[in-house]
Amino acid sequence: MAPASTPTALLPDSARTYDLGFARWVYENVDGGDKLSMCMQCGVCSGSCPIGTEMDHGPRKLFMMIRAGMKDAVLKSNTMFNCTSCYRCVVRCPRGVPVTYILQDLGRVAARAGYAEAEKTDNARFAKAFYWSTRTFGRTDERLFTFKYYLSFGIVEAIKKAMANMPIAMSLLKTKRMHIGMPHKIKGTKELKAILDKAQEIEKSKQGF
Ligand code: SF4
Ligand code: SF4
Repeated sequence: MAPASTPTALLPDSARTYDLGFARWVYENVDGGDKLSMCMQCGVCSGSCPIGTEMDHGPRKLFMMIRAGMKDAVLKSNTMFNCTSCYRCVVRCPRGVPVTYILQDLGRVAARAGYAEAEKTDNARFAKAFYWSTRTFGRTDERLFTFKYYLSFGIVEAIKKAMANMPIAMSLLKTKRMHIGMPHKIKGTKELKAILDKAQEIEKSKQGF
C-alpha cells in the first residue's frame, strides 16, 4: 500500500477508491454543491488561491476528483481545512461557482465522517479553539484561544509554543493590541449559546455521512 502522503494522482489504479454516487451526493447535500456542474475546469480558482501551495489539491482538482467519485481522497484532503475563506476564488470564478461554501461544507462532511487526517490538521485545532472562545465570550480573546490551541498539542508542547511566541505577545502588549486581565465578554452570551446550539441541531439533522 502506498504511503498516506502519496498524491492520489500517483497511486496505481488498484490503490484508488471510487464511489460513483459521490458526485451526486455532493450535488444534492453539500452547500453550493449543485453549482459544481457549472465548473469548466479553467483553474482560475486554484491559480488565484493564496494558500494553494499548502493544499493537497487545489479547488479545481478537488472538484474534478469529486466528479470522478474519488470520495476517500477528497475527504482525506487538507484542502477544505487550509482554506482561509478569503473568497478570492468566488470573486474570480467565471462560472459563479461558490467555491468557498463548497469547501467549507465538505470540511464539515469530512469531519463528521471521521476522516482523522482532517481532524488533526492545525487549522482544525485552531478552529476548535476559536469556536470555544467565541462561544464562551462572544468574541475572540487572543490570549486564551491561542493557549487553548497550543494545549491541543499537549501541555509540554503548549508551554514551548507559548514561550516561543512570548516576544510577539510582549510587542502586542506594548502597542496596546492585547490586554491583561479578565477576557472581554459580550452582554448576551446566553443568547449566543442558544443560537449556536440551534445551528448545531440543524447541522446534525442534515442527512448524509
Ligand atoms: S474558477 Fe470556477 S469554473 Fe474555473 S475551475 Fe474554479 S470553480 Fe471551476
Ligand atoms: S477562499 Fe479558500 S480556496 Fe478560495 S482562494 Fe481563498 S483560500 Fe483559496
